[in-house]
Amino acid sequence: MKIDLHTHSNVSDGTDTPAELVRAARLASLDVVALTDHDTFDGLVEALAEGDRAGVRVVPGMELSCARDGHSVHLLAYGADPASPGLAAEMLRVRGGRLGRLNGVLDLLARLGVPVTEAAVMAEVGASPSVGRPHIADAMVKAGHVRDRTEAFDRFLYDGGPAHVPRYAIDVARGVDLVHEAGGVAVLAHPWGRGREHVLPPAVLEGLVQDHGLDGLEVDHQDHDPITRRRLGRLASSLGVLATGSSDYHGTGKTDHDLGVHTTTDEVFAEISARMARA
Ligand code: AMP
Ligand code: FE
Ligand code: FE
Ligand code: ZN
Repeated sequence: MKIDLHTHSNVSDGTDTPAELVRAARLASLDVVALTDHDTFDGLVEALAEGDRAGVRVVPGMELSCARDGHSVHLLAYGADPASPGLAAEMLRVRGGRLGRLNGVLDLLARLGVPVTEAAVMAEVGASPSVGRPHIADAMVKAGHVRDRTEAFDRFLYDGGPAHVPRYAIDVARGVDLVHEAGGVAVLAHPWGRGREHVLPPAVLEGLVQDHGLDGLEVDHQDHDPITRRRLGRLASSLGVLATGSSDYHGTGKTDHDLGVHTTTDEVFAEISARMARA
């Protein structure tokens, strides 16, 4: 089977509607696709319904904004109950922080000579409850300041960049606990991507596994080079956790992240399914 466990729709910062994403998954010959929008479950009803129509198995997921030592860490949750009170409350707080930092970013951009209005950003956000830097980037593209999202991130919006404003995120250990309380399976997204190995060194990953029951690591991902994938894959097997692979598809919002560019094995997906069912 062809299994891709990490994708985004325009319910967060992807560009396809959830239904379009599922149809694209079918065209990409995927048998299984997880929708994992940032800090929201709002796209799942539409994606699951389209999955039934299109004959694609849709896994209900979400990518939770976490942090360790002030550095951003992303945690994938599969099969978590959206009504779980602890998780829902924290997700609300994270989404509030996403919106709350917008004016700070816009002030910085104005001072840097690349002004965009709040209305222009909100036009990109549309109905998404999860305001992200990619929406700001899209408004910057429309204003003619940058060519694409990549240039907006590389020049202005990257973590610690000139227009970056930190926002609230959940301590990653607590994030794992919240996902488990909600009956979900917790897999760290791109743990060593973008030079972030120092944020989640092996000893920290071991602690998350031993003390919090972290279920898995996303090993095969475009943000990991081949050597990193091999090292992380070996670490996953020595820790006895699941190793997944996925695209982190964002529609046209991210190049080199086509659906199915990385995939998860049948065996690993069977184990994730079993853990989702057991919860
Ligand atoms: P935020 O959710 O506001 O913290 O923004 C982070 C999101 O921006 C990530 O989830 C990615 O989807 C996206 N992103 C990060 N870096 C880049 C980049 N260089 N080009 C395009 N999108 C990016
Ligand atoms: Fe994203
Ligand atoms: Fe991510
Ligand atoms: Zn993602």
